[in-house]
Amino acid sequence: MSAKLIKLNSKIVNCNKCKRLVNFRKKISIEKRKQYQNQKYWGKPITGFGDKNGKILLVGLAPAAHGGTRTGRVFTGDKSSDFLYKCLFKANISNQKNSDHKNDGLKLNDAYITAALKCVPPEDKPLKEEIHNCFNYFNQEINLLKNVKVIVALGKIAFDVCVYFYKKNYNFKEKIKFGHNKIYDIPENKKLVGCYHPSPRNVNTKRINEKKMLYLLNKIKKFI
Ligand code: SF4
Repeated sequence: MSAKLIKLNSKIVNCNKCKRLVNFRKKISIEKRKQYQNQKYWGKPITGFGDKNGKILLVGLAPAAHGGTRTGRVFTGDKSSDFLYKCLFKANISNQKNSDHKNDGLKLNDAYITAALKCVPPEDKPLKEEIHNCFNYFNQEINLLKNVKVIVALGKIAFDVCVYFYKKNYNFKEKIKFGHNKIYDIPENKKLVGCYHPSPRNVNTKRINEKKMLYLLNKIKKFI
């Protein structure tokens, strides 16, 4: 990992800017979910993970309360990550189909994964101000991922934050809307792809399923 990314990640994990989220992540880490009572929760903001030189960038909303906030790695140890990695593995974007904890041997192939917001928000609903606060980190992070060719936004909030990034950093004025399997041209010959978030709600209601996810992942691989 580059020195700049290491420095940025160190700032992120020590950030206490959003008081509501700081209190929430502390509360989660103290109360814990019953099945994890014997574990020590990470309880801090999370950083991105994967190949910093990767051409694919996956962007989620935020760490899950008992996933990333517990394990300390984005999309790790919860139902969303179970579904996501099952698909990433089948699409040959990860080396294994499970993402359980930091030392599980997981590697991403030509891909990096992060979240628009680095702390878990109550009910997965961040305030505008919190997204704004954390955008500073997201902005720096994306600018350090020099080889990205395609950004897969997992859910509308992640998509909107990506669009905001391009409006702020480039003269990008297109009005584009989130939709699953909607693919847009963005500056520097890159693509922005909308994808339903792999949350249990979306999976249980069949809004997203393995077939749809794999179709999209295989399609985006043609852009890299
Ligand atoms: S959401 Fe981002 S800006 Fe807010 S406390 Fe967490 S890391 Fe800091």
